[in-house]
Amino acid sequence: AQERRPLMAANWKMNKTVREAQDYMAALLPRVDGLAGEVDVAVFAPFTCLSEVARMAEGSGVIAGAQNFFYEDSGAYTGEVSAPMLLDVGARASIVGHSERRELFCETDEAVARKTRRAVEAGLLPVVCVGETKEERDAGRMWEKVSGQVRAVVEGLGDAPGGSLVFAYEPIWAIGTGETASPEDAQEAIGRIRGLLGELRGEKFAEEARILYGGSIKPGNVSEIMAQKDVDGGLVGGASLEVDSFLQLVEAAR
Ligand code: PEP
Repeated sequence: AQERRPLMAANWKMNKTVREAQDYMAALLPRVDGLAGEVDVAVFAPFTCLSEVARMAEGSGVIAGAQNFFYEDSGAYTGEVSAPMLLDVGARASIVGHSERRELFCETDEAVARKTRRAVEAGLLPVVCVGETKEERDAGRMWEKVSGQVRAVVEGLGDAPGGSLVFAYEPIWAIGTGETASPEDAQEAIGRIRGLLGELRGEKFAEEARILYGGSIKPGNVSEIMAQKDVDGGLVGGASLEVDSFLQLVEAAR
């Protein structure tokens, strides 16, 4: 895990006006100055404030990202935004296949795979979310679910290198619930995902791909999660909305 630079990522979800985003970035940027090379910091903002977040982040090392996009570049897709459009406003990354999008907006494994491929081709870093529900875990089908999600993405990826994408293991029962996977559960799932990447694409790919944990990460539990050998960082919802708590998570990832 030593060569993979940790990544701490804020997922604002459907929160923050342009003004609130400006205030957040103005507080965050001076405090992450100097972390470059030690830990990557990303902010996944709503479309309405993304260009402002990207503008403010420019030259800072903080990665501005979107929370979703569509895999076609342009055309009759009312309500959608494309990868070139994200690049146009200065975004360098996007979350893909967050469980809220899979569940509430009917995103399939196939759509997630196409989006991931399009992001990589376009030069946008995809943070691809995978994870099981409580029912699936209780029924002993965690790995069936997660491995299927990972396979769909990797099989659609062509020969892109492991460093061109990031996975986030986010057990759905731990998102926004205050319930966190134990550090051992996080390590076990993420270690298995890395093993599967090795089987599918070889050791080098598996060693280069970063895999984050997500699900109720907060200042009180981040250190033990980050201490796990295959955990390369975090994707954080609730605890990323305030600069002070997000900064504690960034510090813990150094
Ligand atoms: C997320 O949205 O990816 C997430 C993990 O949310 P939370 O940290 O609020 O559980």
